[in-house]
Amino acid sequence: MIYLDTAASYPILPEVKKSLLDAFENCFANSASSHLLGESALAKVNEVRESLADEIGAFPSEIVFTSGATESNNIAFKSLLLNDESLSSKKHIVISSIEHKCIFAICDYFQKLGYEVSLVEPDVNGVITAENVKAVIREDTALVSIMHVNNELGTINPITEIGELCFSKGIIFHSDAAQSFCKTDIDVDDMNIDVMSFSAHKVGGPKGIGAVYIRDLRKRNLLPVIHGAGQEDGLRGGTVAAPLIIAFGKAIEVFQHAYSNFENGDPKSCFLKKLKENEIDYSINGQGNTLPHILSLSLPKTNVSVLVRENEDTLCLAQGSACSSKEIEASHVLTALGLTREQAEHTFRISFTHTITNADIDFLVSAIKKAAY
Ligand SMILES: *Cc1c(COP(=O)(O)O)cnc(C)c1O
Repeated sequence: MIYLDTAASYPILPEVKKSLLDAFENCFANSASSHLLGESALAKVNEVRESLADEIGAFPSEIVFTSGATESNNIAFKSLLLNDESLSSKKHIVISSIEHKCIFAICDYFQKLGYEVSLVEPDVNGVITAENVKAVIREDTALVSIMHVNNELGTINPITEIGELCFSKGIIFHSDAAQSFCKTDIDVDDMNIDVMSFSAHKVGGPKGIGAVYIRDLRKRNLLPVIHGAGQEDGLRGGTVAAPLIIAFGKAIEVFQHAYSNFENGDPKSCFLKKLKENEIDYSINGQGNTLPHILSLSLPKTNVSVLVRENEDTLCLAQGSACSSKEIEASHVLTALGLTREQAEHTFRISFTHTITNADIDFLVSAIKKAAY
């Protein structure tokens, strides 16, 4: 199987798998227990909290472990907005039109609570500019939420500029960093980020674990997302998932080295060069500053559904985004970029693993060639 869907989930790295199995075996105690094994689990969890905080220039006390980026995004909106008296007169939220689907679902809920939501459209390159954010913010804007890297296009948004803008207006700035963490630099101070979401399974870690960074967490009056026995600063009750967190820590430790292979090998350029050599027409959605492993490709003379169907035993490809690929509708990201439904049907996303080989790329190119009209 040639796996080309790492933006949906990155395969677990061998070192991470080893550390996960080891933690399941040896780190089974409840990290809230006061005996030796409990304390050792707690120490290991807090080591990961520290390394995550280090990675983004935060304090360990500002990191809460969650089940993943979806939950972190929920906390970013609900915990910060719904309990804070000083925000009670601010009922306006700004997001981009190319956010992950869960952000739209959260905003639907906020609209039911009486909030207004403004959408910022991307520019022709698929990028959300600070200028376009500035155009929609208002006196009563409570929160701006703009993802760091888009999961369908791989485009990197200028969140430093957006953060500066929000800071100057006193607006909370959240960024979903599920796709960017450990792949491009993050510094929550330089970027003026107040809240940020992370997910382990996008960096070779296990599913079901992630984190949220909340600036000055302990000084805020936050609404718990799960009322429980006080775990994670009372924000998220439930026994802390020590083995998953330990494996997440291992992923943070080793993923960047694996990912640096992309700079050496550059499968994206190699693949595009081969498309050209084979005279296959294509255009790329999302240009400029992009991550090296994600590529949204439109192939006007290729029958993409045939390509996907004929090769389903060999290629794992995403048509649209992972969450919407089983739906008939065109992806909201491609629509926001101005693609017609027909163009969207000729589009798919490739997201490489760092272990992709030349032979894999040759296979993909010949499969595309065979699916020509
Ligand atoms: C994968 C992804 C999510 C969802 O993360 P989970 O950990 O699976 O909940 C959210 N946002 C973006 C940008 C993603 O790529």
